[in-house]
Amino acid sequence: MYAIAIHGGAGTIDKSEMTVEKESAYKNALKEALEAGQKALSKGLSAMDAVEFAVNSLENCLLFNAGKGAVFCADGGFELDASIMSGKDLTAGAVAGIKNIANPISLARKVSEKTPHVMLAGQGAIDFAKTIGINQETDEYFFTQQRYDQWQALVGTTEVALDHGSSTTKPIGTVGAVALDKFGNIAAATSTGGMTNKQYGRVGDTPIIGSGTYANNATCAISCTGHGEYFLRSVVAYDISCLMEYAGLSLDEACNKVVKDKLVKIGGEGGLIAIDSKGNICLPFNSAGMYRGLVREGEDYQMFIY
Ligand code: ASP
Repeated sequence: MYAIAIHGGAGTIDKSEMTVEKESAYKNALKEALEAGQKALSKGLSAMDAVEFAVNSLENCLLFNAGKGAVFCADGGFELDASIMSGKDLTAGAVAGIKNIANPISLARKVSEKTPHVMLAGQGAIDFAKTIGINQETDEYFFTQQRYDQWQALVGTTEVALDHGSSTTKPIGTVGAVALDKFGNIAAATSTGGMTNKQYGRVGDTPIIGSGTYANNATCAISCTGHGEYFLRSVVAYDISCLMEYAGLSLDEACNKVVKDKLVKIGGEGGLIAIDSKGNICLPFNSAGMYRGLVREGEDYQMFIY
């Protein structure tokens, strides 16, 4: 049995601003990403391949805050974070604060495979990309009018915002995937542009193993989205794994405790996607919505927003 779940960010997704066209554009993009992952899994590729390919598809889509379509930093630039982890052997790779890389998740995977390190940040990560033949894109590649308008609504202030919704509501975005392959291995991947108007150099939860991303065959694979500072302080992904490992909670119980209770108590808005090695899937969020989808072997694609 194989299965994959994905997210395209959680946040204040305002129903009154959602048109039929917009909704179907988001659902089609989610389906495309699910297809990319599912194709890999059905061919017998690994959970790591499936989450990388699904996240690549979302990174290449303008609708989501990762790769192309990333949000603006306070200085008008783009800084991208990503991480990936294998539940089979607990290997992990991450990049933080990188610029002009179209698919940060693929670079994160290369960090885990081709260096003795888990995380590379800033210029060092970009230089490493060059040495393995990953070229930098121009700034124009990452520009979208919607993200520019969201940034303009906050520029000059110290406010930051999640990326879904209008500039007046309080936008969120980030993408991620978790998967179970035919061999019983699970993996997780997360990629983001961070939060609109974030300070230059700010790093959120997404590239931090144990916070935004975690995978362990013995417990679960998790990819988070939401206000990163709260997810960092709550060590969300590893907390869920620990609740399963040490307190004996089920996947559902652990996810709901962290997202609907612990995070809410400290004001942390967002959600996550989770899978275990039996193929149980949980997609909890405490925000108005979260772009998400899943597919299991032999079943139909399911995509949801609210
Ligand atoms: N968690 C991401 C960050 O704080 C943002 C998001 O999920 O939209 O960088």
